Amino acid sequence: MNWITKIIKAGEKIKSALHKRATKEDIANSDWTSCCKGPILKKDLQKNLWVCPEPECNKHHRINPKQRFDILFGEKNYEIFKTPIPKDDPLNWSDSKSYKDRLKNARKKKLVWIVE
Ligand SMILES: [Zn+2]
Repeated sequence: MNWITKIIKAGEKIKSALHKRATKEDIANSDWTSCCKGPILKKDLQKNLWVCPEPECNKHHRINPKQRFDILFGEKNYEIFKTPIPKDDPLNWSDSKSYKDRLKNARKKKLVWIVE
């Protein structure tokens, strides 16, 4: 094995390590998340209302509307009414991008939720 094959093998190891990284779905479905002191169980965060228990950190983690309703009203103590969903672009707005494309991208990135 010469130095070129060693470098190629090292490159392949790096590539495989990069491919094994967790996806966004893996992270969302995991029981763990990370904060200042490293990994923390989501159950522990939930018990602390999604605020980091470390006093010097005290980070407020991002939560979705359902999690917020569960905190405010208690689980299954509220009812979500069906509301009519407005048209995506009632004003037919156009900018540098069309409003429909911006909304589509935001929904893809989960910046905008539709509560069902
Ligand atoms: Zn923290």
